[in-house]
Amino acid sequence: MTQLAPLDFRSDTVTRPDQDMRLAMSAAEVADDVLEHDPTMKALEERVADLLGVEAALWVPSGSMGNLIALTAHLRRGDRFLAARGAHVLDNELGTAAWIAGGMPHPLECELPGRFTADSVRAAAGSDGPYYTLRTTLLCLENTHNAAGGAVTPPDEHALLVSAARETGLKVHLDGARLWNASIALGVPPAALTVGVDTVQVCLSKGLGAPVGSVVAGTAAFVVEARRLRKMLGGGVRQGGVLAAAGLVGLDRIDDLAADHANARTLARGLGELGWQVAEPATNIVLAGVPDLDVTLTGLRHLGVYAGPMAGKVRFVTHRDVNAADVAEALRRIQSVSS
Ligand SMILES: *Cc1c(COP(=O)(O)O)cnc(C)c1O
Repeated sequence: MTQLAPLDFRSDTVTRPDQDMRLAMSAAEVADDVLEHDPTMKALEERVADLLGVEAALWVPSGSMGNLIALTAHLRRGDRFLAARGAHVLDNELGTAAWIAGGMPHPLECELPGRFTADSVRAAAGSDGPYYTLRTTLLCLENTHNAAGGAVTPPDEHALLVSAARETGLKVHLDGARLWNASIALGVPPAALTVGVDTVQVCLSKGLGAPVGSVVAGTAAFVVEARRLRKMLGGGVRQGGVLAAAGLVGLDRIDDLAADHANARTLARGLGELGWQVAEPATNIVLAGVPDLDVTLTGLRHLGVYAGPMAGKVRFVTHRDVNAADVAEALRRIQSVSS
């Protein structure tokens, strides 16, 4: 049997830096960012702060570290934080929100995929109990919501959640690993989706195609503290400008995410026509319910179509390294084995 060229839909993190990005990395002006401020990292941080409509930003090696830094800055031991059931900070960061940041997690149930209501925030925030009860101090939002299939929270709903948090004395952290996708899907600037938050984390290494890097952002005072926390976690890097340069190229490509969204819709439609159970994707993530996840993932792998498991379903993620022809080819291969 001839080997089929692999089509990799496991994640938008599989993107490889292209020639233009590598050239920008090799030409980057650099300095020791632990001793002083690397000029390219500084340029990236200022640009992201501007895009997000916040005072200041800090480059970090990963989204998980960005979230952890924000949660560590916000939480004290004996505090509780709220996040959507299935949130990345609850399920995919190895419990660091609890064992490093010191917060007790409390999942909120979602009525719509990835979206809980302002009332559920009020109910969970509750009032002060006796001295031995946890203090609920933080609300974590996630836009887009990964495990809910790239679900988008629009600005009006975001505003209601932030008001509910404020009324009940909660701080707000936004896990915006794919905030760029939400911004493109809604046709609003990223800053329209960060209104009222204390901190936000965005990824450069997913749909934007950089090999490494995220940014955590908030007030200037938060970033001073975040810089110390990043060093504590071993995330201070020296000539990071070579990495930040890739991020800057990625930021020029935010509009390209629209193509990923179109490819995801085509894939979902095609799978639906083949009898798969799929919902219309809001962004670049397609979730398909199947009777046996392992059997399906193995079968797909034999076809050279790589997908992954997510929330008990098959997850296909479109990204800049798969184009419309690759989506058509994946559907052809799946059709060839469908009865
Ligand atoms: C990928 C992701 C992260 C973490 O990013 P890493 O760089 O992989 O650590 C955080 N939140 C969400 C929603 C993600 O999808």
